[in-house]
Amino acid sequence: MWLDLYMFFLLFVLFAYLFVSVTVTNLHKSYFYFHFLMMLWPLFQFAIKITENPAIQLVYVKLAFVDLSLLGAGWLVFTFFLTGHTALLRNKKAFLFFIPALLTSAGVFVNYRGMFVQPFDGAYINRYYGPLFWIVIPVLLGYLLVPLFILAKTFASAQAPRTKRKIKLVLIGIVVLLASAVFDIFINVIYFSSAMIVPGLTSLGIFVSAIFFVIAIRRYKMLDIVTIAHQDVIDTIADGILVLDEHERVMEINRSFRPYLDLRLGERFVIESFLKFSCGEPQREQFLQTYREEPLRTARIDIIAEEADRRYISLQTAPIILNKVRVGRIVTLQDITEVRRLVNDLERLAVTDSLTGCYNRHYLTQHLESDIMLHVRGHRPFAILLLDIDFFKRINDQFGHLAGDEVIVWTVDTIRRTIRQTDSIARFGGEEFMIYLPDTAPTEAAILAERIKASIETGQAAVENGAYRLSITVSIGLLSVDTFEGGLQSNPNGYITQLFTLVDEALYQAKKNGRNQVVGSAAFAKRSIS
Ligand code: GH3
Ligand code: MG
Ligand code: MG
Repeated sequence: MWLDLYMFFLLFVLFAYLFVSVTVTNLHKSYFYFHFLMMLWPLFQFAIKITENPAIQLVYVKLAFVDLSLLGAGWLVFTFFLTGHTALLRNKKAFLFFIPALLTSAGVFVNYRGMFVQPFDGAYINRYYGPLFWIVIPVLLGYLLVPLFILAKTFASAQAPRTKRKIKLVLIGIVVLLASAVFDIFINVIYFSSAMIVPGLTSLGIFVSAIFFVIAIRRYKMLDIVTIAHQDVIDTIADGILVLDEHERVMEINRSFRPYLDLRLGERFVIESFLKFSCGEPQREQFLQTYREEPLRTARIDIIAEEADRRYISLQTAPIILNKVRVGRIVTLQDITEVRRLVNDLERLAVTDSLTGCYNRHYLTQHLESDIMLHVRGHRPFAILLLDIDFFKRINDQFGHLAGDEVIVWTVDTIRRTIRQTDSIARFGGEEFMIYLPDTAPTEAAILAERIKASIETGQAAVENGAYRLSITVSIGLLSVDTFEGGLQSNPNGYITQLFTLVDEALYQAKKNGRNQVVGSAAFAKRSIS
């Protein structure tokens, strides 16, 4: 008779251990409830035997079996949590799961005309079970067998080895519990003989199975923490995350995604609606093509989200593949605004001359060349001016290098005021500048060059905080291109070099002719640059 009490204490120790050591999730709460009911059975079994009073014994017998009925329901709930069928419990009809347990509990408690249990030898230590017992037990077995079936199914379909091991442990536990209860019934009820009572069988079964349950929960508690942490992690992440199933329905959407597109779980995601955000038409076409026709490939596109403060967003989609089959898609949004701004700044810095703020020589080789080639291919006229300050060495010698710098800056400002918005100026070297005039006919270019020369000649550069006002002149070589014969496209580099050489020669001629003048490259028309 003491075995039942021992079992109660041992179960209690396990219970307490679990309580203090494990994160409390719904799974654990349901297990606590279940475990608590398990502990009560041995306690009541023990209690029956410590009193001589049959009326009190009957109360304990009743309590024990009410407990057993609720235990079945508790096990069912625990199984639902364990296998992830929590939605079933949130259903309004979830209370139906408890109806059989409540009905049998009521029947046991009322024990109408001893239909459930009757005393043996005037006491309930040994007892006869009535017909109600044979209803209570099948209901209880039902409560254990249905979860057993659910667990077995989950075990068969589970992918992750961790889940499989966890379910396996629980399955062993429940089989032990079932076996001990059935064994108990066979030995002590069906083949009942007062001479041979095997006490505490069910209690022992409950204890052994509880060990399996506790190991399962304890060893795989990480799984539950991961589940809890999962939502937190994806919600706090700065990137937008959207998980779609194979029908483009939203399975998961995180907080960072919502400012761009607020979707509910289960709603359909329409990629086109997303690309209403501005991005280049060819990029959009290419992206959509990959997205629709090659879903197994990763696709990326940069978009500018006007709705969200003109943020630059990098949108990426990738397939989710399970057993070589695409089961869905993951769409991520990365805010690349800061990176884009930094890159823009760097790009601007890389092509800017620090003294004058105009383009530098690097710009000429990178951007100007490609722009010139576009003009050549489009047969659009353009002109290049090469400008050099006359007798600049004297300024340096007379007023110092700093004053020389100020003159250079003033020269650039003056040129800037004279040229058009679409023209560009780059510092070619020391006090030598190249001015690019796109879509400009030769006559226009000549007029503009003369105007630049005149504006510098008539202006005065204030140096050393206005202490001196200097007058300078410049010489300009001019090269106008409006004929596009020959195989120019074949060798862009050679072509550009020739252009630069020709304009340099024109500048040299201007210097040679006495400075402060514009000289057009006469050589251009005569030479064949192909
Ligand atoms: P020319 O009329 O033949 O052009 O005579 P120039 O004295 O201007 O001769 P040149 O163009 O060959 O000399 C350029 C001088 O400009 C040489 C160099 O000392 C000076 N220089 C080059 N870069 C800078 C600069 O960044 N700041 C200053 N202050 N002087 C520079
Ligand atoms: Mg010079
Ligand atoms: Mg020079």
